[in-house]
Amino acid sequence: MAAQGERSYRQMQQEVSISTNTSETNYVQCVSNYVIEALDPAIQNRNQWEVTLFAENQANAFALPGGKIGVYAGLLDVAINQHQLAAVLAHEVSHVIANHSNERASQNAIRDVGVAVARILDVNDTTLEAIDMGTRYGFFLPFNRTQESEADSIGIILMAEAGFDPEQSVELWLRMNSNGGPRPPEFMSTHPSPDSRISDLNRLMDDAQSIRQAANGRNPDCVPGIASPR
Ligand SMILES: [Zn+2]
Repeated sequence: MAAQGERSYRQMQQEVSISTNTSETNYVQCVSNYVIEALDPAIQNRNQWEVTLFAENQANAFALPGGKIGVYAGLLDVAINQHQLAAVLAHEVSHVIANHSNERASQNAIRDVGVAVARILDVNDTTLEAIDMGTRYGFFLPFNRTQESEADSIGIILMAEAGFDPEQSVELWLRMNSNGGPRPPEFMSTHPSPDSRISDLNRLMDDAQSIRQAANGRNPDCVPGIASPR
């Protein structure tokens, strides 16, 4: 799975525009580094983590087996601070460390065992384009509801361990929700509803806050930098 993840990732890097905005790229890398450094070393070392900012105007991100993370530049218009971006990245990293792609591959004997992609958002009007991209690169979509909930739960704890504010995960989903767009297509409908997602996150909030406070003084300081055209 990791080899396939890497192959798809390299192919995407060849064919999809990579952002040339260095301040945004550095910002995404900064948040990503904090999240990954918060992982247990054994888990951290099991993957070759890498993050790429693609110049695509969708509020989306994905993670492939082996630790290959993609962020679409449009996400930065919705995830408006480092904490919200960390919520997304921690969710994506959680799919990887929970081995969701392997689970999926073994659950369904789907075609040529493609690579699962962690799609966090399906609320904007470029969703179909995103799905098309996913299928072109051999990802199969989406994770099931249980896996999504699991990634949310692991993610909020992980972002807190990295020193980010877990409350902002709820803010993020609210923003994603109000970002509107057509309803998710039918085959994306296994995603948790925004309301249940938020109440699940809130159930973990006290624990996450305590973990953040105990996070060894980790105090991420990633800033988006000066806005420049994409
Ligand atoms: Zn997900």
